[in-house]
Amino acid sequence: MMVSAPLDAAAPQHDIDGTMFLINRDWRVSRYYIPERMRQAEVKGQVRTLREEAAAALEEMYAACKEDANITLTSVSGYRSYGKQSTIYSNKLKRVKTKAKADRYVARPGASEHQLGLAMDVGQKGKTNLSESFAKYGGGKWIRENCWKYGFILRYDEGWEDVTGYGYEPWHIRYVGKEMAAAIHEKNIPLESFMLLLREEQLLDIIIGDK
Ligand SMILES: [Zn+2]
Repeated sequence: MMVSAPLDAAAPQHDIDGTMFLINRDWRVSRYYIPERMRQAEVKGQVRTLREEAAAALEEMYAACKEDANITLTSVSGYRSYGKQSTIYSNKLKRVKTKAKADRYVARPGASEHQLGLAMDVGQKGKTNLSESFAKYGGGKWIRENCWKYGFILRYDEGWEDVTGYGYEPWHIRYVGKEMAAAIHEKNIPLESFMLLLREEQLLDIIIGDK
């Protein structure tokens, strides 16, 4: 599907503690934002902290993948603070020299979904982490097909770069809740484009409601 919505056309919802809050290069959060109710997901891997509802969904999903496909998914990186993201960005910048290159794969502080506690970088036991080849592994394929059933979406799919502002990341999933994940999966569009659709529908409701 063609996606052509400009980043600045999608207005984020106001509820930063809600599961549909939009965050990207243009819509950033403050250095002081720390989600409430976070916990460690009971899965294998590192940095397993997520917001409570996302942690529960992740546990359910990883268990289902093990059951279905006998694949052990791991946690590579869940919640990251603003400060941690700052460090990651400046380290990347040192390596690649230009901001344009660093921006391709690393979010600036305040522009990462990981700060919301709703994003997870998924790995597969015994495989290389955070690589495009994740899409070809059994775990990556299973995630693409099934993550929506547990309330997650693939946030940075191939070809969505102009809309999301980020390169292809088959390992990065974002929790939005089961109902929204099913709707987004069916439309197969980036979150930014989906938010635009939602806003248009809400406006339509208001117009029809007035008559
Ligand atoms: Zn990520």
